Amino acid sequence: MTKAIKYLLIILGIFLSLSTICILSKRRNADFAPLLHSRQWTTMSTIAEYKCTDKSKLDDGAKLVRETFSKIESQLSIFNPTSQISILNTQGTITLPIKPGGDDPDLLFLINEAVKISHRTSGAFDPTVAPLMRLWGFRRATRTASMPTDTDLHEALSHVGYQKIILTTNENSTVTIKLIDGAKLDLGGIAKGYAVDLAYDRLVGAGLKDFIINLGGNIRVNGTPPQGSEWQIAIRDPDSPDKLTDETLSLKSGEAVATSGSYERYVVIDGKRYSHIIDPRTGHPVERTGSVSVKAKSALEADALSTAVFVGM
Ligand code: AMP
Ligand code: MG
Repeated sequence: MTKAIKYLLIILGIFLSLSTICILSKRRNADFAPLLHSRQWTTMSTIAEYKCTDKSKLDDGAKLVRETFSKIESQLSIFNPTSQISILNTQGTITLPIKPGGDDPDLLFLINEAVKISHRTSGAFDPTVAPLMRLWGFRRATRTASMPTDTDLHEALSHVGYQKIILTTNENSTVTIKLIDGAKLDLGGIAKGYAVDLAYDRLVGAGLKDFIINLGGNIRVNGTPPQGSEWQIAIRDPDSPDKLTDETLSLKSGEAVATSGSYERYVVIDGKRYSHIIDPRTGHPVERTGSVSVKAKSALEADALSTAVFVGM
């Protein structure tokens, strides 16, 4: 890689320092900028970005993506007390239609996928980590937390395990989801990927093409970039998150990539940083540094698998 391209990556990295991954074409800086048009905004506690090659379609596309993410945020956030997920967590059960109406986010589908990936990764991915996230201080306004006692850790672990999610199909085309043993869901490791896929399908349904959606490092591309046939995705340097590594990942139309790392979110306990990715088997935050990027056919799969691989299977 030439020095110029390295500098371009670094400068763009600083410019987009709040997002986890930047999308770059392997073009020279002067050629690149005018060819992709973009909108950025904050949602789901991260930065969302929509980029496309056709400027006349930029606002239509960005509006669709923005609406999709807002809807998911309101219906699937554990921070919204009236969301379906909060109702499930407080009541321990919810009954949902197998096919939700209109544009509603599909919580049942999402939980089904989360359970499948938990099986596939032997529990490295586990959507029932909610009590552990709370225990380690990830649900507080401040970053400083205190070390949990062994008793508290043991107690929290007794509510964790994807086998505690019980799905029963009813005769009237609904499914009842039940959380046993006081389990509570945290879909933070998969919901952003799902949101990207939903937005992707809506954009394609609206006839839009040649775009990239990025929600906090969960990326899916469509069509072709301004130059070449595949999109080139640059990965942020986990040791210096305002910089990019020399590596790029190529994505074909429809493909997705997600990155998980300990640098994204953390708490500080006795001066030491603890990552927001928890090993559900030990109850401890993963101590590994670095990041994991996973390429997949859907953003949901890339999102959940990058979290799982970071935990270690
Ligand atoms: P990501 O940034 O996609 O790697 O997801 C990290 C988020 O997923 C955390 O902030 C938690 O909300 C949740 N999480 C943490 N550990 C796990 C785990 N082992 N399995 C599933 N979700 C997790
Ligand atoms: Mg993830």
